[in-house]
Amino acid sequence: MIIAALPSLLAMPELPEVEVTRLSFASRIAGARIVNVAMGKPLRWPLGCAVSRLQGLTVLGVRRRGKYLLLDLNQGLLVIHLGMSGSLSFGPALSPPGVHDHFDCHTDKGLLRLHDPRRFGAVVYADHPDSPMVHKLLGHLGVEPLEDAFCAAAFAQTLKQRSTVIKQLLLAGDVVVGVGNIYASEALFLAGIRPTSRASRISKARAYRLHAAIQQVLRAAVALGGSSLRDFSNAQGQNGYFQLQAMVYDRAGQACRVCATPIKRVVQGQRSTFYCPQCQKP
Ligand SMILES: [Zn+2]
Repeated sequence: MIIAALPSLLAMPELPEVEVTRLSFASRIAGARIVNVAMGKPLRWPLGCAVSRLQGLTVLGVRRRGKYLLLDLNQGLLVIHLGMSGSLSFGPALSPPGVHDHFDCHTDKGLLRLHDPRRFGAVVYADHPDSPMVHKLLGHLGVEPLEDAFCAAAFAQTLKQRSTVIKQLLLAGDVVVGVGNIYASEALFLAGIRPTSRASRISKARAYRLHAAIQQVLRAAVALGGSSLRDFSNAQGQNGYFQLQAMVYDRAGQACRVCATPIKRVVQGQRSTFYCPQCQKP
């Protein structure tokens, strides 16, 4: 079973796709013993140990932090990032690695495989959750948007102190993690906030609305992705994003679903942003 399918033209995996990936194999791989590991072409970062170091280790469980998956082992952990185009599958080892399969982890419960045509993804071994490498990758991450630590009052307070443009602040990930390009655009629409607004100019009431909108779009996407998992039987992963019917994302020139004003597209930090000039106030 393929567990994270990605579109050819859309965007990189965002938090919901990573969380659905986690949900799809976490319980099945728990307790698995690693038999051997084979690496393909170099990924974004090196593994950080000889593959033989992993042999015989046991997978205790799978956590997610931002867009990273953490495979806790009985000694150390594997930090996995899907990059721009990566997908993980876990199941019977039915085929030898293809040209884009760059991490094959054979366990006594099945094969965990990273398929990554663009190779911006990575699998990194750390011997301890507090190792410098883990800190380097995860230390700067903001709070998890779907956990209690993401508090509306603190979020509103933080926005007041930041002069950054709100869309850029959301994408940066140091205030709240995992809100990528699609979901930032959608959440800002739901909250009625123009993506180009400065964070510090957003009122407390609107910041609370944005907080709720971020959780709403991410929860809906995780739920949709979870419900579509059973359809993920195509090993080529052509099933695409579990995308909600977007209100603004990728709808430039089309009528706003609320007010019929044409949706605008602007480029911020080299990323496309979509918004309704009528529904979203500066
Ligand atoms: Zn509108």
